[in-house]
Amino acid sequence: MHNINALQALLQEPKEVMITTHHKPDADALGSSLGLAGYLKKKGHRVTVITPSDYPDFLNWMEGNDDVIVYSDKNDALVQRIISESQVIFCLDFNTLSRINEMGEYIRQAKGTKVLIDHHLEPENFADLDYANTSAAATAEIVYDLIKAMGDAALIDTGIGESLYAGIMTDTGSFRHPSTSKNVHLIIADLLQIGVQTSNIHRLIYDSSTELRLRFLGYALKDKLVVLQEYCTAYISITAEELKAYNSKTGDTEGLVNYALSIEGIVFAALIIDRTQAVKMSFRSVGNFSANEFARAHFNGGGHKNAAGGISMDTLEATVQKFESLLPQYKDQLQQAATK
Ligand code: 5GP
Ligand code: MN
Repeated sequence: MHNINALQALLQEPKEVMITTHHKPDADALGSSLGLAGYLKKKGHRVTVITPSDYPDFLNWMEGNDDVIVYSDKNDALVQRIISESQVIFCLDFNTLSRINEMGEYIRQAKGTKVLIDHHLEPENFADLDYANTSAAATAEIVYDLIKAMGDAALIDTGIGESLYAGIMTDTGSFRHPSTSKNVHLIIADLLQIGVQTSNIHRLIYDSSTELRLRFLGYALKDKLVVLQEYCTAYISITAEELKAYNSKTGDTEGLVNYALSIEGIVFAALIIDRTQAVKMSFRSVGNFSANEFARAHFNGGGHKNAAGGISMDTLEATVQKFESLLPQYKDQLQQAATK
């Protein structure tokens, strides 16, 4: 990790800044980006936030949301121009340029100074300044700490604080995961002190389902959940037709995998969704079982130890079959994780 002085020096004069984050941004991706954007604007920089894809409606309340540029092939030329003209390019909550699709190559070739702020494992070495911290619970936590380290904690207002809170809240599973450190709670105490309405943010993010989304959840749990007690594993697979039937939108399947993991004795859970262009997989584990190693070894993926993802170009059926057929070789590891 670089010294804070390098970042301070970089941001001494007002600059043209762009901030981007990973494909299908979640609350940490968007919250850390908009929190950082709010801060940098206060420091006099010109800031543009560009996401590589759309993101769930339940995130659209964050301050600065209305100015976010969502990349698509329709605004490709504009995005290329912004990237090439940016003096500073912040990459938040991801660490390999392949996770931002077309934008990855544009950024690789850009002349601006690239600053990585992230908490994922195994970074690709593309950044000029690297503020990766794999023990941080959320990228929003690192953004908070960086602002503070630069002596600017007083600039964190409720708008910035709400975005950062959303990132920390969701990436810690509402302060449940082992990553929920003392530092996390101290930051939240600071955010409460400046007036962030935390319970309101929980409601905006978690209690904003449509009726159909809840019915979809019911259907998935009743008809699509497969529990393999022998392997301490449970999974849910969803077809493209089912997504369509429930009018599923970006973010609607978020959290579904956690229900599979919440069953007693289950230490490994998967959500396997036919996204038409590819089959997307989400993995979650508890304890010692490495979901990221599993994802990396078999599904071209990665992530954190207990929360990972991957992709398959097979059909949904073939992917599910492959997933099930892999479990016997992990039986001992899975059962061991379940006894701890
Ligand atoms: P989710 O299941 O919420 O989509 O992803 C959980 C975590 O897994 C993410 O924070 C990310 O680190 C990782 N992840 C998800 N999909 C992929 C993927 O396709 N490749 C890699 N390397 N990591 C992924
Ligand atoms: Mn994150």
